[in-house]
Amino acid sequence: MVYIIGHKSPDLDSIAAAVSYAELKNNLEGKEEYFPARAGDVNKETAYTLEKFDFGNPELLENIAGKEVILVDHNEIVQAAEGVSEANIIEVLDHHKIDFHYSDPITFRSLPWGASCTIIAQDFFAHNLEPNKNTAGLMLSAILVDTVITKSPTCTDMDRQIIEKLAKIAEIEDWKQFGMELFKIRSSVNELSAIDIIKGDFKDFQTQVGKLGIGQVETVDLNEFKDREEELIQELGKIKNSENYHTVVLFITDIIKEGSLFLVATTDQKKTERALQSKLEESKVFLPGIISRKKQVAPNFTCVFNE
Ligand code: MG
Ligand code: MG
Ligand code: MG
Repeated sequence: MVYIIGHKSPDLDSIAAAVSYAELKNNLEGKEEYFPARAGDVNKETAYTLEKFDFGNPELLENIAGKEVILVDHNEIVQAAEGVSEANIIEVLDHHKIDFHYSDPITFRSLPWGASCTIIAQDFFAHNLEPNKNTAGLMLSAILVDTVITKSPTCTDMDRQIIEKLAKIAEIEDWKQFGMELFKIRSSVNELSAIDIIKGDFKDFQTQVGKLGIGQVETVDLNEFKDREEELIQELGKIKNSENYHTVVLFITDIIKEGSLFLVATTDQKKTERALQSKLEESKVFLPGIISRKKQVAPNFTCVFNE
């Protein structure tokens, strides 16, 4: 048996990719060989989406040592589930920058599209298979979240085409409206602790100066976070110290204003300000036009931190 698993702090695309790719592979090979798994707790819009489209939670695999696995929605080892160095990786399917070495020849597919689920949906269509209504809805939801309802600079024409096709199959008439619903659920933070907000969608990057952590949360209204900024900055400081980070960043993206508020805890304010190309005031700054970790925030930071 083969587990298909996304990154730690799984987002919707990681979970939806594992579920839909297992379905596609089992379909193509005519056997029940592939099983979706997850490397951590699912976030709120993922729980909502799984339930809406009638899926259970994939199996939790905190350690993948000794398992046969397909990695989806990530390829950097620091982002993979524990035990990855002793896992037998047989395939990678991803849409992020590539930082991957492996001792065996394997299938490695990476496409510069907006979501892993766009690649998988395109696979279904390329094999003349139609995903069922629920799988289409699940993949559609993941693409809408990863591309910020097509507003992100990571969104491509292929994503737009696949969104239209999946919305038809899933019988979702107004996918923009549906996407906004997902973001409302995603950003209802009232009952979440600071650590849950920060770690809900959080990625590690290894740089010359040390470990960098970048969390993102999207909202339809930045004001929802106004009262919690101080608390979040303090929590970032705690994470930095206790988990040995050089810098920890949380950026809160307002998908209506199309900009992000950055909250930062760092050991080097100057370097961080250079990465942000802006001055921090009380450990925060709002940057219009910045909404993508992958295309904007992570490259700027790793560039300056690797000088
Ligand atoms: Mg992801
Ligand atoms: Mg993704
Ligand atoms: Mg994302």
